[in-house]
Amino acid sequence: MDLRLKGKVVLVTGGAKGIGAAIVRGCCAEGAIPVIVDRDEQAGEQLQAELRTNRVETGLIIADLTAAEACANVVEGTVQKLGRLDALVNNAGINDGVGLENGTTEKFVASLERNLIHYYAMAHHALGALKNSRGSIVNISSKTAVTGQGGTSGYVAAKGAILGLTREWAAELLPFGIRVNAVVPAEVMTPLYQQWLGTFADPQEKLKEIVAKIPLEKRMTKAEEIAAMVLFLISEQAHHITGQHLFVDGGYVHLDRALT
Ligand code: NAP
Repeated sequence: MDLRLKGKVVLVTGGAKGIGAAIVRGCCAEGAIPVIVDRDEQAGEQLQAELRTNRVETGLIIADLTAAEACANVVEGTVQKLGRLDALVNNAGINDGVGLENGTTEKFVASLERNLIHYYAMAHHALGALKNSRGSIVNISSKTAVTGQGGTSGYVAAKGAILGLTREWAAELLPFGIRVNAVVPAEVMTPLYQQWLGTFADPQEKLKEIVAKIPLEKRMTKAEEIAAMVLFLISEQAHHITGQHLFVDGGYVHLDRALT
């Protein structure tokens, strides 16, 4: 299937590592021009250098998206340099463990700044360019939005809101032909996931427990498998798909736990 992404400019927040980096690599493989937006300068430069050896064009913008003006600058810089924007992938986020008992209202709000507010700000500032290209948006949520996790109210509130906003923006942007979808990962081995596993007394044992409960093939989802769904959704092949929540999780959220 030809995704017809050649020459398309795709902004990927949190694009230097993990799922974002897989989306960036996938864009390059399809001939699109990804713009990596990340606060991790070293990882961003490393990824860009890796991709440069394959002679592909990429952009790199180092920014912390929790800073109010950052999102506007990222979009403006991209459109100025590359002349267009075809897709926005809102992906940057962190499961920061601001719970009901251990948190404060201030910490909860700060978690929303880390996980939700920049999704809105990026979409808001990208709108003009996306109208011009009849582009699309993919928001990365999390299974925790529908299952809960415990001890992480800020992250879960953000991820739930992201699912709501996906439907809301899909409705609002119908007149412009801009499609908006969400991808919902569950268990994907990335630097963020490693960090979360590290909070348990025995990370390897915890990992074994989790993997044993993943219905399809008893394994973690690969970052490339999330990326494949994102690439399809931003492509013309998904031209009649909008407002959807796509779970790429080996059946983790929806299949019967009694299945072996
Ligand atoms: P990751 O390995 O931490 O990679 C994310 C990248 O985004 C990191 O380089 C991170 O930098 C950067 N970033 C985070 N917040 C940022 C900000 N405010 N401004 C700029 N850059 C920022 O994470 P991942 O596991 O790939 O997760 C990507 C997305 O998938 C997240 O939204 C996450 O919630 C979601 N997700 C992941 C899983 C999973 O199993 N991995 C499951 C469900 C949902 P730092 O390293 O400096 O933070």
